[in-house]
Amino acid sequence: MVDDNADNVDLLTQYLSGLGYEVIPAFDGAEALLIAARETVDLILLDVMLPQLSGFDVCRRLKAQEGTNYIPVVLVTVRDDTRSKLEGFAAGADDYITKPFDIEELSARVKSLLRIKLLQDQLREANSRLEKMSVTDGLTGIYNHRHFIERLEIETRRAERYGRPLAVIMLDVDHFKEINDERGHLFGDYVLRRLAEIFQAVGRASDLVARYGGEEFAILVTDTAGAATLAERIRQAVETGEFNFEKQRADVRVSAGVCQALASSVHEGNEILRLADEALYEAKQSGRNRVVVKSKKE
Ligand code: GH3
Ligand code: MG
Ligand code: MG
Repeated sequence: MVDDNADNVDLLTQYLSGLGYEVIPAFDGAEALLIAARETVDLILLDVMLPQLSGFDVCRRLKAQEGTNYIPVVLVTVRDDTRSKLEGFAAGADDYITKPFDIEELSARVKSLLRIKLLQDQLREANSRLEKMSVTDGLTGIYNHRHFIERLEIETRRAERYGRPLAVIMLDVDHFKEINDERGHLFGDYVLRRLAEIFQAVGRASDLVARYGGEEFAILVTDTAGAATLAERIRQAVETGEFNFEKQRADVRVSAGVCQALASSVHEGNEILRLADEALYEAKQSGRNRVVVKSKKE
């Protein structure tokens, strides 16, 4: 509740506290903006006539700021002319109530806005869950194929614009079918999850690790010409890694194909991907458990 009159604040605080609300008082606009940004606020009762910043100004700033823009604002004011009301709504207010107000009407309006706020919060929450799901692989929790392709496009353009190197590492589990056949599909799933962990642990935070499909993974390596070294470190980490799950164990090996594009030769993400795939094929053909590197020269 924002009001420069302490008596008003006390009175309404008492009433609303009695209804089970927690009231945080603010006595001017600057204080209100600070609290709104820092605390979890569900609704703001905002007096219009305030020292320095007016309630309209405060409202405009709240609504312009990511993070406070979805907090419902009720303007509470003696200014009961239509022009003021219009100005209040134009500033982004969600409701407008004139003093002296009926306290039951005020709390009914508060309750109604809080109901909408709750629904909006749930919707935003569901949206961000969906957003996360749409880029995530369900089994391993790392990025999925679609997100990898999207980021490959973005990073290709970025690398070209800023003259940075870019590389793709394609990884495929060696004889994975045997692992599945001999130890069961659940053990196979465990291997894929464990591999995702290893790939992430060996790389840098800026490397984008994705499940490309089945037992194939792809890593997008930005800002370094060291992708071949990374791929070899990953191959070794898998070779020396422990794969134990529900009393079964396995030796796991991966083959990797790397395409390293230098700054002057980035151009097309698809081309980098195709060359990494070719390199992977060669790694398989020449005996598996190895890294084959192709450089994109122009
Ligand atoms: P290679 O060394 O040539 O790569 O041989 P491979 O056996 O790994 O290759 P292949 O492509 O023949 O077999 C891949 C297997 O991966 C077959 C498929 O059932 C299994 N697979 C794909 N997705 C999953 C999954 O999500 N979980 C499990 N457990 N297995 C999967
Ligand atoms: Mg395989
Ligand atoms: Mg495969």
